[in-house]
Amino acid sequence: MPEHRHTILITGARIIDPSNSVDKTGDILIENGRIAALGRVKAARGAEVVSGKGLVAAPGFVDIHTHLREPGPAGGETVLSGTKAAVNGGYTSVCSMPNTTPAVDSPERVAYQKLLGGRAGYARVYPVCAVTLDRAGEALVEMAACAAEGAVAFSDDGACLPTAKMVSKALLYAKVTGLPVIEHAEDASLAASGVAHKGARSAVLGLTGIPASSEDVIIARDVIIARETGGRLHIAHVSTSGAVEFIAGAKSRKLAVTAEVTPHHLILDDSGLESFHTSFKVKPPLRSKDHIQALRKALVDGTIDCIATDHAPHRTEDKEVEFDYAPFGVTGIETAFAVLNTELVEGGVLSLKRLIDLMSARPARVLNLPAGTLSIGAPADVVLLDPKKTWLVDDDKLLSAGKNCPFEGWRVKGAVTHVLIGGQWKKRDGRVL
Ligand SMILES: [Zn+2]
Repeated sequence: MPEHRHTILITGARIIDPSNSVDKTGDILIENGRIAALGRVKAARGAEVVSGKGLVAAPGFVDIHTHLREPGPAGGETVLSGTKAAVNGGYTSVCSMPNTTPAVDSPERVAYQKLLGGRAGYARVYPVCAVTLDRAGEALVEMAACAAEGAVAFSDDGACLPTAKMVSKALLYAKVTGLPVIEHAEDASLAASGVAHKGARSAVLGLTGIPASSEDVIIARDVIIARETGGRLHIAHVSTSGAVEFIAGAKSRKLAVTAEVTPHHLILDDSGLESFHTSFKVKPPLRSKDHIQALRKALVDGTIDCIATDHAPHRTEDKEVEFDYAPFGVTGIETAFAVLNTELVEGGVLSLKRLIDLMSARPARVLNLPAGTLSIGAPADVVLLDPKKTWLVDDDKLLSAGKNCPFEGWRVKGAVTHVLIGGQWKKRDGRVL
């Protein structure tokens, strides 16, 4: 991304940079697209001065699980609409998942994802490459060549690696590249044709259930293989208390296992299903309250490393069908900060500094991305947040092409007012440019 030449001074903001344990009021000087100074800064001649009074300045958020749907059928999302939506939500870096049509499973397609991201000119795009060709679970992609083109991880997301043997091969070959394998943990024989969390509510509503064990058995399997191979394993969208136990076990053995959780799994239980609204149909499914409690506890104690959105836009005509027939997935990249600030920070579960850490420095660390920090000399990917501003989630006003947000109609607290990427304004005074 080209860097901007002019000088910007953000004054009097509460600067929260968890990567450097910073939480203080001060100024941020940006020169040549990079962070030049932090603290008390004298206005440089010719600098553009922006007041940060009453606002929080933080590193731009990093989403390591975003579906940009390109290439794919028109209408779901494009790299342009998805990265614009990302900026609206305060995300300056996103990792695009490879379950597109066709799948991102070759060095050429990895390079093309990067090219589309650069052309769009909004959030930086880091491609995740498939593990297997066409995500069919049979033959490994050319991992080294895909890594050389800029893939930051491997995943057959949307599908689970089919066998322990394939997990073993994937972890061993990925290890050579230094990149992790991201698992969508779902045992197909247990999940089968399920559409909702298997429990009391799915039984009452007559929906086919997806048991928590469908996630747990895969994580147990993968952790065993990670131990055997010494490979680097990342678990996507953790949703069960059992998953948390296996991940904690792996960490206590010092295995290279990390995990993410989504805002919707941290906040929404399966009660929304009573409306039969397809904006609550997602994989893994929205679980019961006891699982949510376990996820929150795991986030607080560090068993779960970071928050990722799994932003999964769909065409409205695909989602506006009977519950059983709708595709899985919810949008969330524009609402993540607000709903998490409302529920977890205002709700007393996490501090604002910790939430910012979980949305910036920590996800960057999981995939080893050059982002999530306000260190001097780092690219000036900066967000200004107004943690007290309330607003109403209205899907029609959000920028994602997908209109399947489960937080539709919520009154939330916390807004992203400004976004800089490489020292260039992408959002100002609440408006994406
Ligand atoms: Zn997935």
